Amino acid sequence: HDLDPADGDRARALDAHILHSWSKHGTTNPFTVARGEGVRLWDHDGREYLDFSSQLVNTNIGHSHPKVVEAIQRQAAELATVAPATTNLVRGEAAERILSKIDDMAAVFFTNGGADAVENAIRMARVHTGRTKVLTHYRSYHGNTGAAINATGDHRRLGNEFATGHVHCFGPFLYRSEFWAETEEQEAERALQHARRVIEAEGPSTFAAIMVEAVPGTAGILPPPPGYLQGLRELADRHGIVLILDEVMAGFGRTGHWFAHQHDGVRPDLVTFAKGVNSGYVPVGGVILSDEILGTFRERAIPGGLTYAGHPLAAASIVAAIDAMTDEGIVEHAAHLGEDILGPGLRELAERHEIIGEVRGRGCFWALDLVTDRATREPVDASVVAGLKGKLLERGYVPFTADNRIHVVPPLVISDDDARRGLEILDEVLGAHAA
Ligand code: PLP
Repeated sequence: HDLDPADGDRARALDAHILHSWSKHGTTNPFTVARGEGVRLWDHDGREYLDFSSQLVNTNIGHSHPKVVEAIQRQAAELATVAPATTNLVRGEAAERILSKIDDMAAVFFTNGGADAVENAIRMARVHTGRTKVLTHYRSYHGNTGAAINATGDHRRLGNEFATGHVHCFGPFLYRSEFWAETEEQEAERALQHARRVIEAEGPSTFAAIMVEAVPGTAGILPPPPGYLQGLRELADRHGIVLILDEVMAGFGRTGHWFAHQHDGVRPDLVTFAKGVNSGYVPVGGVILSDEILGTFRERAIPGGLTYAGHPLAAASIVAAIDAMTDEGIVEHAAHLGEDILGPGLRELAERHEIIGEVRGRGCFWALDLVTDRATREPVDASVVAGLKGKLLERGYVPFTADNRIHVVPPLVISDDDARRGLEILDEVLGAHAA
């Protein structure tokens, strides 16, 4: 592959034409990516990196998987786009593949990404129930469109509060418990009691949906304690509320299951997905509907749709990605990495480095919660994380950071050896930081 350093300079100069997400204009990231393959990325100078971010936790199958690339190329030559109302074989196959990985769900509504999947799931719940309010967690991210950003609990909601009917509560998070809990059982029980009281105080008959990430991702990778999702299911059933599980980040193998909620054995009414469904090779997302919710849309038309819904390039990439993940045992491999390499390896790092307050996660979905003091659990400040991020990049490790945390979220196809190499780099950088 011809990599030319001059292209790197040119890319950075042209970046002035782009207003980047969530950023002040004019803060070009010097890390420039030219090429990717598997878990590896290269810049224009030919420097090689291990991708421990999966970009925005979406390249589950790794970069440039040949079967997915080939499927997109083949589809582009055959039919590169088609109107959403048309019947199209590859779109049907994509829906069939998705439904084959989840029990008891009836249909798929395709969108362009995760935020509009959330948007449409909320819309479906509102149409289905005839109610407005949506309960979500403060520690959450659900996307950046009207209702999705208001459903989001984190600070990104605050500059965007235009939509109505959004109510938040604290979900369970034992390490930083809002409920003075000392065990997972107490945390689950008390968080459920809190959610129940919020719904009662707001009026149970005003709620269309309870929506939570099956494992909150950007908020810190917070696997729910046993019983919590089941408790939300019961709460939803008691009051005729739709349970939406947002699987945009946690779905499609990230946690070592096809869907993260399968770990908890809970039955959702609606599931949102994007990212890992095709590893982001073509933008796509969607909502998976239960037969009961689909029933509402047998009676009346869904009041929404998108020009690119079920886009053939996206559909072809979904079929190829799910088939490759199935044939190559990629989800099982993610579970193995979590149990045998990443989980034990990160816990071992925590034994050596005082800065690691807690290690949390499953599969290829882990967070290091960094603290100034293990007793007080005071989070390290942003400059510490920025410093570590720079040092990791210098050593050829692409990190995902958020607040006081490093999320260890490589593509699920990473080999045991590359995963160990990543742990070594983390060890070196955390060691140098302490010294
Ligand atoms: N939901 C969750 C759980 C997410 O993590 C994200 C993105 O990170 C979204 C929704 C929004 O997805 P998108 O950025 O594709 O709109």
